[in-house]
Parts: sequence; structure tokens; C-alpha cells
Amino acid sequence: MAELKRLSDSRDLTRIERIGAHSHIRGLGLDSSLEARDASEGMIGQQPARRAAGLILQLIRQGKIAGRAVLLAGQPGTGKTALAMGIAKSLGAETPFASVAASELFSLNLSKTEALTQAFRRAIGVRIKEEAEIIEGEVVEISIDRPVSAAAAGSFTPSGVAAAGKTGRLTLKTTDMETVYELGGKMIEALGKEKVQSGDVIALDKASGKVTKLGRSIGRSRDYDAVGPHTKFVKCPEGELQKRKEVVHCVTLHEIDVINSRTQGFLALFTGDTGEIRAEVRDQIDTKVAEWREEGKAEIVPGVLFIDEVHMLDIECFSFLNRALENDMAPILVIATNRGITSIRGTNYRSPHGIPPDFLDRLLIITTQPYTEDDIWKILDIRCDEEDVEMSADAKVLLTKIGVETSLRYAIHLITSAALACQKRKGKIVEMEDISRVYQLFLDVKRSTQYLMEYQSQYMFNEVPGEAGGDD
Ligand code: ATP
Repeated sequence: MAELKRLSDSRDLTRIERIGAHSHIRGLGLDSSLEARDASEGMIGQQPARRAAGLILQLIRQGKIAGRAVLLAGQPGTGKTALAMGIAKSLGAETPFASVAASELFSLNLSKTEALTQAFRRAIGVRIKEEAEIIEGEVVEISIDRPVSAAAAGSFTPSGVAAAGKTGRLTLKTTDMETVYELGGKMIEALGKEKVQSGDVIALDKASGKVTKLGRSIGRSRDYDAVGPHTKFVKCPEGELQKRKEVVHCVTLHEIDVINSRTQGFLALFTGDTGEIRAEVRDQIDTKVAEWREEGKAEIVPGVLFIDEVHMLDIECFSFLNRALENDMAPILVIATNRGITSIRGTNYRSPHGIPPDFLDRLLIITTQPYTEDDIWKILDIRCDEEDVEMSADAKVLLTKIGVETSLRYAIHLITSAALACQKRKGKIVEMEDISRVYQLFLDVKRSTQYLMEYQSQYMFNEVPGEAGGDD
């Protein structure tokens, strides 16, 4: 449990995002009736797709869509990943969101089914409820079973005791509780350097041994007043001295797997190097979680698993997905592809998006459309803000034209490089000249293809028609 606690505490850290391609996306930008606002939460245009994604979001929130799959299909750079990101952001921190590119499954040090299983389990959350027994009361007496001068004086500093080499039993007696708490070494550690003395009002978590100083009593009255900046007003009515508080930990099934996998251990979660997890470990965990669910101690929170470039999955992966979606704990699967009719990896058959027909049949399909010039301008404007780049109106218009002619993604990439060109000439605002400069320095796909067609004979392994070797 202590590890689960550490995990849920550290989750916030791992969620911190670098300034990545989608860092400006903060949600789906919908109003309360699920209509897509023109520009909101970093999202621009693409209204029908956003509306559809909003409906999916609603179903996820109502827990009605577990085990289904959604396909985002559209041309490159039309915001499929951005939409998936928007769904993830709108779900909030408690709903797990795992994202993987299909090609990664083939490059990891794991079998593809193990990699897929881990991805699935990263998208299944478990809310574990724990009852903590918290005891509040005023310290009336502190003593150590061996005489210690500090304790004898009615105050106690654990580090002082440790320094004196006294590790005897510490007894903390509080008002109105029949109980006398006998605190061992664990408690001494938990108290840290904080000095506890008689008259302090404390809260004691019996399980972890954590003591929190709440305030000081004034005289021996039942009302406690604040003293000093760190103490609070505390009222300690009779009969409420023993409290049971609910503590909730949210972890994913994958995290529980890793913690319990002897070969890897807890730290593997941070390095990502979890290796294969044995089927028996997972079976035991599933049984345990099922028990907790029955006892009302845990709830399953189906999250979202996003698989990008889904056409890169092969027929075995698709049959794995078909089966995995039948599981009652399955997360909602969101997949994306920019392919049209193409071959299904691992077969000689062709199908829409390279997805086998039986799997296609399971999918709710959302399509994304190419952006208008106005949309591209707005997205570029948001990206300039996000990257802290000041750009003149003319330069933005030019960049938008480039975006229309080439691709949105190419235009986005030019923002940072144009800002560097501007910095180099000691300018403050990115101007048209900076955009033109980087446009000449970096080729877009069209110009690069053109260049290759002109100069392909000078490249290695070029296949000039008529000169290709081989038997056929
Ligand atoms: P691919 O098929 O190549 O993977 P994609 O459809 O997933 O492309 P994205 O990566 O989502 O496209 O979009 C390209 C860039 O444009 C990203 O930086 C993304 O955040 C941004 N973008 C796309 N659509 C929108 C939108 N509607 N609003 C704001 N930003 C967007």
C-alpha cells in the first residue's frame, strides 16, 4: 500500500508534459450542449469530428462505452492525434489514458502481445479505497521507558533521542482517550524533527504512524486556539476523537503488475523497462482486484487506450484486440490511421485502412477533414503563443500560405526555426524575411520529392528504370 501511495503521489509528476506538438490542446473545446466552439481549449475547426468525440467522451464518463473502439480516420495532419489528446485532457487526471504508436509495439524488447497487454493494462485504472484510522487529541504526557532528559522535561524531539542513542519505547498519552499509544522506532521516524510536547493537539494515523501537529491547546479547555503561523484552530469535540477517514489511491493495473513483479520491481515504472510480466502474476492480481471489488474496497475505472498508426498492426495484433475488447475491464480503444485502402499487415489481403473487416465492423468511425486557410492561420497563431514566438501579421499570412501549399505540420515546424533565424539577426519579432529564410533552408515534402526526381541518379541504390538488377 505504501508503494501505491507513493505512486499516486508521483503520478502528477509523470503527467507533466513537455512542450510537444500537442501541448496547446487542453480539451475538445465543446460547450455544455456538446457543440464545438469555433476556437476553444486550443482546438480549432474540425467541428463534426469534435462533436462526435464529445459524444464518445460523454459515453466514457457515463461508463457506457467500455469495450468499444473508435477509429479516427483522415489525411495526415488533420488533427487525429490532437482529437485523441483532447479526449484525454477532458477526462481528467483520474481516468487513465495510455498512448502508443503501433510501430512501437514491434520495436520494443517485448513480444507484441505482451506490449499490447501492457498498453491495455496501463489504460485500466483501479480506485482503491482505504480506511485510515485517524486519532486526534491533545498530548498530555510523553515518556520514554528509559529516562531521557528531554522527555523528563515534558517535551520530546525524536532526533534528539536518536542522537542520544536512546531508542526506547515512546509513550504518547492523549486527552480523553483511554488509549496510551506506544510508539516504536517507526513512529520516532515519522515524527521527524518536529518537536511534540504536552499541550500539542495532534492527529495520528495509526497505520502509517504519521503524526501531524494540528495546534496547541489553551490551558486544558476543549477549544483549541491557534498559536504561531503553522498551527490551526482546532476544535476537538468529545466522541469524535477517533475518526475513520477514507483515503483513495488511483493506480493502473499495469502499475500493480510492475510493483508485484519480482523481477522488475517498483522503479521499473519510472524507467519504463518493465520487461515481460508473467501470466501468473497478472492472474493473481486480477483475482485480488476482483476480491477487492466484491468487498467494495476497489472500483475499476476503464480508461482510454490510443493506438496511432493502427495500419502498422498485423493480423495477430488485430485478433488480440478483438479478444481483449471482450474483457469486462477493457478500456475504450481509440485508434487512428491516415491510410486509405491498403494491405493488412501479415496477409496478402487489402482492406480499408489496412484493418481486417471483422475488426472494422466493431468500430465507430470518425473522419477528419482537411483544414481551411482560416483554420490553418488560427492553429499557427495558437502555436506561436504556445512557443512564445512573436510574429508579425505579414509573416503569419505568409506562413499560412506555406501551410496551405505544403502541410500544416511543415508550417508548424517553421515557427521555431524562424524564431531562431530572427534571434540570429538580433530581431525581436519574426518577420517575413525569417519565414522565407527557413523556407529556403528546409524542404517540404513536395520540394524534396521534386529534388529527388531531378537528382536521384546521384543517390545510392537508386533504381533507375531499366537498370534494376535481379532475375525478374
Ligand atoms: P498523422 O496522420 O500524420 O499522424 P494527425 O491527423 O494525427 O496526423 P496531428 O498530429 O493531430 O495530425 O496534427 C498536426 C499538428 O496540428 C499538431 O501539432 C496538432 O496539435 C495540430 N492540430 C491539428 N488539428 C488541430 C486543431 N483542430 N486545433 C488545433 N491544433 C490542431
